[in-house]
Amino acid sequence: MPDTNPLLSNWSTPFGMPPFGAIRDDDFAPAMAAALDQGRANVNRIADNPDAPTFANTIAALERTDDVLNRVAGVFYNLAGADSNPAREALQRDFAPQLSAYSSEIVNNAALWARVDALWQARDALDLTGEEARVLYLTHRGFVRAGAALQGEDRGRLSAVKARLAVLGTQFTQNVLADERGWFMEAADTDLDGLPDFVVSAMRAAGAEKGASGPAVTLSRSVIVPFLQFASRRDLREKAYAAWTARGANGGDTDNRAIAAETLALRQERATLLGYDSFAAYKLETEMAGTPAAVRDLLMQVWEPAKAQAVADADALTAMLHTDGINGDLQPWDWRYYSEKRRKQLHDLDEAELKPYLQLDAMIEAAFDCANRLFGLEFAPLAVDLYHPDARAWEVTRGGEHLAVFIGDYFARGSKRSGAWCSAMRSQSKLDGNVRPIVVNVCNFAKGDPALLSYDDARTLFHEFGHALHQMLSDVTYQSISGTSVARDFVELPSQLYEHWLEVPEVLQKHARHAVTGQPMPKALLDRLLAAQTYDMGFQTVEYISSALVDLDFHDGDAPADPMAAQADTLARIGMPHAIRMRHATPHFAHVFAGDGYSSGYYSYMWSEVMDADAFAAFEEAGGAFDAATAAKLEKFILSAGGSEEADTLYTKFRGKMPGVEALLKGRGLDKVA
Ligand SMILES: [Zn+2]
Repeated sequence: MPDTNPLLSNWSTPFGMPPFGAIRDDDFAPAMAAALDQGRANVNRIADNPDAPTFANTIAALERTDDVLNRVAGVFYNLAGADSNPAREALQRDFAPQLSAYSSEIVNNAALWARVDALWQARDALDLTGEEARVLYLTHRGFVRAGAALQGEDRGRLSAVKARLAVLGTQFTQNVLADERGWFMEAADTDLDGLPDFVVSAMRAAGAEKGASGPAVTLSRSVIVPFLQFASRRDLREKAYAAWTARGANGGDTDNRAIAAETLALRQERATLLGYDSFAAYKLETEMAGTPAAVRDLLMQVWEPAKAQAVADADALTAMLHTDGINGDLQPWDWRYYSEKRRKQLHDLDEAELKPYLQLDAMIEAAFDCANRLFGLEFAPLAVDLYHPDARAWEVTRGGEHLAVFIGDYFARGSKRSGAWCSAMRSQSKLDGNVRPIVVNVCNFAKGDPALLSYDDARTLFHEFGHALHQMLSDVTYQSISGTSVARDFVELPSQLYEHWLEVPEVLQKHARHAVTGQPMPKALLDRLLAAQTYDMGFQTVEYISSALVDLDFHDGDAPADPMAAQADTLARIGMPHAIRMRHATPHFAHVFAGDGYSSGYYSYMWSEVMDADAFAAFEEAGGAFDAATAAKLEKFILSAGGSEEADTLYTKFRGKMPGVEALLKGRGLDKVA
């Protein structure tokens, strides 16, 4: 009975908010079934339309096919991530194959593809607006990339390749997890020398979890990394480091090396079937970088200064090793330990001293205040039904005009997945009336009274709020290109850019006030905080870029028969420093092998960073962090424009030129290396 299902009825709530109080978990499965039925009926109506294809009856109509699905999925996936329970987890497992079958049906609908392709071939005669032409191009490209144009055997082979890749990706992930879970090292009390309390208690908890009698080192990042930073026992560091870096390469059932080789070969086959020179060419076609050569060029420009900095740092750390009476070379299991000691000498920054100045509510206020000064946005608390008592809502307006609803859900809880993210429960569009977005920021901050953040937490808050601005300021006609619907290597620009305002001294001076005394953060503490941000960037950049280059080499050209040998070749070619290893070696490089997401795309974090550094420099060059003309350009060409044009076009309109690496090198403190 769809009319009684609150997900399917009309929402006569303020701003068309989902009626959370009325939705029960039992409502999702029937609503999803109805949404998919309706989507199928809509698609078939377009495909079987006896009229000749037009932009309106085919492309614009396709934009509307999933109106109900978007509404149901918008609510469901927000809850599944931010407030799950066993019923919602089961629904998630049920929905995944249904949704992937639904999207396969659409791209495999021959009559629909014929209409889309006919429009594409006739595009020059259609008299389309810029945005319409863009949506036609993206729709057509999506069909081609999914294999809609393939005939006969090729079509069947592509499906088989994709299915096998999905199996390999899952197996890869499970093997890494199995190796991670299977190893632990019990520690005697005498092994705990030098370890701070928080590491010891994490080790005790880890030991209890493994059924050990005392504390233990495990391969969970939250245990192994602090252990390597603080453990004075070099032999134990070496042992733990060896286990950590051997994940997925231990022989036996959980070894990932053969899986990596098969994955790379199948990806190459997939790209060849679709008509691309290489898998990297296929993957990068939709990205701002565009080509493997552009990615390589960027990475190598940063590689040399980063390596020079790392080599200089290695000398300093080696001297500390020798002072400890240990002869020989600095080893990879030594780096974090000596680097931590050196950090204390150079930047004695005490988190406990900092924390009282970073109150959650004040940092939310700071993010709002910057958006007000830059874009004139105003935020008013909204009393509406939400899905959890910790979630809060604000109405976002400008000059009295409604722009969006913003929901902030900041506290960690057991029902929330880890990490932080921004999602739109409803995206902006203008195809059928002025639809304004409902945007959610979800984080995992510790609760407290008042809730206090670490500096990293505060940066995360600003980061997610930058994504939210990309959604809230969106101003396009078609939903498929609105807000954050942009290339993967462009989508982190607004978020990483917004982090820069947290570092503007006047922002912290105004909003970072002591929770008890109300005093602003002392200048000396602020200076130390900002100086510490670039510490050990040589190491971090080297371990990241080496991983990104290995990823690129794997997919650029013929797939290597022996990925481990190919990895060694790449590292030798770039002159990898002895005491640093790749951030993710091939047998546990989940970004690349657990699925397609970041394959030949691991570079994209740095690509975005190049742009955010360069974009913030545009403000500084123009006279300051709140320069009005630059903010107006940022909104016009980037924050409101979604995917309405190619990312490099949008960026060039904003900045007048493409970004260079200078601002990134400066931001990472790598600009002064000899
Ligand atoms: Zn992000």
